Amino acid sequence: MTTLLSVQNASVVFRARQGLLSSTTVRALDGVSITLDRGESLSVVGESGSGKTTLARVGLGLQRLAAGRVVFDGLDITGAPEGRLKGFRRRAQGIFQDPFSSLDPYMTVGQIVEEPLLIHKIGGPEERKGAVQAALDEVRLRPAEETAAKFTHQLSGGQRQRVAIARALVLKPELIVADEPVSMVDASSRAEILYLMRELQEKHGAAFLYITHDIATAYHFSQRIAVMYLGRIVETGPTRQVIGNPLHPYTQALLRAVPEPDPANRTRRRAPVEGEPPSPAHPPSGCRFHPRCPYAFEGCDREDPRLLEVVAGQEVACRLWKGFEEEGARLPG
Ligand code: SF4
Repeated sequence: MTTLLSVQNASVVFRARQGLLSSTTVRALDGVSITLDRGESLSVVGESGSGKTTLARVGLGLQRLAAGRVVFDGLDITGAPEGRLKGFRRRAQGIFQDPFSSLDPYMTVGQIVEEPLLIHKIGGPEERKGAVQAALDEVRLRPAEETAAKFTHQLSGGQRQRVAIARALVLKPELIVADEPVSMVDASSRAEILYLMRELQEKHGAAFLYITHDIATAYHFSQRIAVMYLGRIVETGPTRQVIGNPLHPYTQALLRAVPEPDPANRTRRRAPVEGEPPSPAHPPSGCRFHPRCPYAFEGCDREDPRLLEVVAGQEVACRLWKGFEEEGARLPG
């Protein structure tokens, strides 16, 4: 496997207004590194404010970095002018949370899916028409010709998200960044869309960076997972390994919050993660999770833990594991 995308030590800083006259700095990402091999899927999971959407934008070359670099297929794209990113823009595509705002309501579905081909000057009219119909057929918006003539307001939320996927697919990208692609579609379409994305990933071999607040969907979708908290990765490793044996107290808390189906066929929500996430503008000292951590101990409010490989392939940023390298490590709880 070769590395397709490498985000190295990325930091992103925003200025946020504070009252009428003053502003403050928000470090949305703080020294975050991820790599994605060709054809691989990586889920980035966290609550809102964790920096996961900023990381998605970094992966798509849409976000200015305060520090660090982004390398795509060996090419450093950090801060590159738009003119130099043409090839990258064709090879990396995004699918966003809200299909209503990301798709032009005045264009037909066919025009929406064809637009990237026109932008990148790919094919003649007949070739483009064939590519649009093939993409619509692949996302099961059938009959494709009929769907191509519709406007997005004539479609359901799930169908609109399929249009967004077809638009991303039509360029045959090597990297797809999907930012909360199912959070705004109804529950019945959610599983279908995730299943479809996984099927297409396997068929086309594109690498997927999947951004979600729902750790349960990451389990079904990705080979590797990175859990984010307040602009940092706190745990990362193979998805099944991390979910089967979470070593960071925050990962454990996210898993405890996953709704549990009950025998009466209803979904029961479990306890959410205790406490509100602190403001990224004023992150706590020491370990950023310490005000909410049930295992916090002496020094957690001063010492800032860094990612450490605790079990083969599984890295954790938590002082409980400092110097702990035993196979089969397990956090109590
Ligand atoms: Fe909890 Fe301390 Fe580990 Fe932070 S370093 S997650 S506060 S035990």
